[in-house]
Amino acid sequence: ASAKGSVLYLDGVSVSFDGFRALNELSLVLAPGEMRAIIGPNGAGKTTMMDVITGKTRPDEGEVLFDGTHDLTMLDEAEIANLGIGRKFQKPTVFEFHTVADNIRLALKGPRTTRSALFGARNRIPDDAIDEVLSRVRLIEHRARPAGDLSHGQKQWLEIGMLLAQDPKLLLVDEPVAGMTDAETEDTAELLREIATRHSVVVVEHDMSFVRALGVKVTCLHEGSVLAEGRIDVVSADERVIEVYLGR
Ligand code: ADP
Repeated sequence: ASAKGSVLYLDGVSVSFDGFRALNELSLVLAPGEMRAIIGPNGAGKTTMMDVITGKTRPDEGEVLFDGTHDLTMLDEAEIANLGIGRKFQKPTVFEFHTVADNIRLALKGPRTTRSALFGARNRIPDDAIDEVLSRVRLIEHRARPAGDLSHGQKQWLEIGMLLAQDPKLLLVDEPVAGMTDAETEDTAELLREIATRHSVVVVEHDMSFVRALGVKVTCLHEGSVLAEGRIDVVSADERVIEVYLGR
């Protein structure tokens, strides 16, 4: 695998905390427009990997390239966000007292776009732009409600919408369906599949039925390295994976 033509390229990435190797020569290549699911038991290094990509944690060793050219190990979190890497953390953080539409409006205003320069003076974002995002995350009918009134799942979608408003090249999503109903989980798989037609996506997730529903290539981490990679039916049948993850 090569860095050229990849949206994300990790090679030999290691991170130690007080001598403990959270990532151990981890390698991962994501093609443009690809959605990848990352699985693995607790402590496998999934969060640390996301932290390395977003600049929250600096690797001790290894290469981390974005779009084949940008060396992410040299950039801070704000610079990495400005390149077009958006991260959705596990817990939803929306502006509860603002309407659903205003949450998207705020996201469309900045911080990473020249839109703020365009619209900032008039302090106005076209409703069309807001509705376009809201329809992508299935919240158009809820546009006038306070975000605090949404269900847990809907808040997760709203926050994903706020990230989409920034038009990221790469979207990192951490355990999106934790705490969701079965119906919301199914809708989230569909929603992410739609998003992946326009953005590259990395999803960390424990819920195997959700990962199956995504239908994308899966990487299973264990002890900071890739244990298995491929189609979910192949990875989930891998004896080593069953031993460390599914069989517990
Ligand atoms: P996962 O997200 O797959 O559960 P993590 O990346 O959170 O795994 O953690 C990998 C390992 O690194 C764990 O054993 C965890 O305890 C350890 N770890 C993560 N962050 C830190 C930190 N800031 N300080 C010390 N140890 C950490």
